[in-house]
Order: sequence, then C-alpha cells, then structure tokens
Amino acid sequence: MAVTVVGSVAFDALETPFGKRDRILGGAATHFSLAASFFSDVRVVGVVGEDFGSEEFEVFAARGINMDDVEQVPGARSFFWSGLYEDDMAVAHTLDTQLNVFAEFDPKLSQHARESAILFLANIQPDLQRQVREQCNGAALVGLDSMNYWIESARSSLLETMRCVDTIVFNDAEVRMLTGEPNLARAAREIRELVGPRVLLVKQGAYGACMFTETSFFSIPAYPLETVIDPTGAGDAFAGGFFGFLDSLDEPDFDDNHLRCAAVLGSVMASYCVEDFGSERLQRLTRREIAERFEEFKHMTAFESPPVVAQLRR
Ligand code: AMP
Repeated sequence: MAVTVVGSVAFDALETPFGKRDRILGGAATHFSLAASFFSDVRVVGVVGEDFGSEEFEVFAARGINMDDVEQVPGARSFFWSGLYEDDMAVAHTLDTQLNVFAEFDPKLSQHARESAILFLANIQPDLQRQVREQCNGAALVGLDSMNYWIESARSSLLETMRCVDTIVFNDAEVRMLTGEPNLARAAREIRELVGPRVLLVKQGAYGACMFTETSFFSIPAYPLETVIDPTGAGDAFAGGFFGFLDSLDEPDFDDNHLRCAAVLGSVMASYCVEDFGSERLQRLTRREIAERFEEFKHMTAFESPPVVAQLRR
C-alpha cells in the first residue's frame, strides 16, 4: 500500500533562539513524507520551481519517496516561507509567505497516486486540497492539516474541505481560532458537530497531542526533550508517523488500539524533527532510533497500579 500526500514543498528561512537558516528545504509535504517513509511507500503531489535542484530531489530519493507527481515549472520559483520563533517556541511569527508556483497549481494526479489507500492533505490552499481529494475517491482514510493563514484567508473553503475527510490533524491554536472557543474539549466537540470527522487529533506542541474519536479520548505526551532547536515541521512529522504507521497495517482502519499506536509514533517522529533545523534531523534518522524512542514512550505511558478504589479513604 502507499500514502499519497499533497502539500507545500518549499524553501524556508527559519530563525529560532538557537540559530538560523537562510534557505533550507522545507514544506509541509516534505516533513510529512520523510517521516512517513519509515513506515510506508510515499508519493508526493506538489509543485516546485526551477530553483529546486538535484540536491533537494536527492533528499527524497534517499528515502525512496516517489516524486513523479511533483511538477517542476521552468522559470518559476518554489513556495517560500520565512518564520521566526520567540524564546517560547510555541509562539511563531510568519515573516513572509510567497506562494510562487502554488498560485497557479492545478494538480493532476497519476493513476498510482490516485490509488493510494491513504491520502494526506497537508497544509496548502484548501481549494487545492479538495481538488486532490476529489481525484482520490478510493482512499480508505483521508487526513487533513491546515494553518492559521488559511483559517483567516480561506475559512469557508477550508470548512468545505474538512467535510470531505475523516481525520483532522490541527494544532490547539488552530482549533480555538476556527471555533472561537477557548476550551479545547468544547472546541473539539464543535468541530466534530460542524464537519463530522471520525478522528480529531489536536497537537499541543511541547505538551503532546490528544485524540478525540466518537467513543474515546486519548492523550499522548511529547517526549521530554531538554533541547528543542526548531519546531518547524513537527506537526507534519507527527502526521507522517501517524498515517505512515496506519498504512503499514494490512488494511488501514479506525481500530482504537491502532490509532493510539499511530499517535505515539506520531509523537516519536515529531520529537526527532525538532532536534535540528527543518528536516535535517529526519534526514539522518534511523529505524533503530525510532524503535528505541517508541519503547521509551511505552514505558512513559503505561504503569501498573493496585486497585485504586481500595486506596481511597472515603
Ligand atoms: P509546521 O511547522 O508543521 O506548521 O509546518 C511548517 C512548514 O509549513 C514549513 O516548512 C513551511 O514551508 C510550510 N508552510 C508555512 N506556511 C504555509 C502555507 N501558508 N501554506 C503551505 N505551507 C506552509
């Protein structure tokens, strides 16, 4: 099976309290595909400019990621994003967004990309996300991410796209912004009532993530890292681990245990992503490191206890 992802493939300029990079490989589909490639075959749907060179394509090739559905436009420039993080790296400022090739993008998927069991609509203009969704009718599971930029500038289109997916992966600020509701549990209920996803994953940065389904709630911690270098792409890496793992199952499904395991692996991948700038850490990550941290997560989240009721005094 395979995962198809559509989203930005970009150059980023990043500044965090730990340093800066003027122009590195970035984009939501980049971080997602690198993370998912540890679990599954991945196909990227996107567009880049002439400035996207063999060095950048090689990063994907090294992880076996299929780029046949990435169009390269001669004479044009790739998507560019510039972000600045405060000392509290949960606070990010967008300094510049240049859509460039994405302004004219008209995605036409190959038959292979249409046939993937899992489709992930990573962060990009919601009309484009819907165009891709419509071409992948057979996908067993469709996930969606977005960001404040689109909530503000394309809200009604985004709501329409949210109605065509079954799993939504937003961060807590986006969930609050979309609903205007500060309480996360209420905001999650509102989103479920408004657009009806089967699964709503809410990423909470250094506090981990939580998952709301029709019948259950699950909270995943973030790995307790002592140094975080750059949070860019953590959300996409989380989604890559999550959907990549589901795709590695015989049949992707909504079994609670599978979803929980997928969410823990999402947290593992996000924790590695933030250890260096952009996708640099994911590019040199190993299977052994993923397996080791997954085991640590299992210890962090599981414990044995005596029957608690017997311990209560009154
Ligand atoms: P994240 O940190 O997970 O929110 O994603 C960061 C990535 O999103 C960066 O590498 C950017 O290139 C990309 N990005 C930033 N703004 C946008 C946007 N408006 N549309 C699509 N991708 C974006």
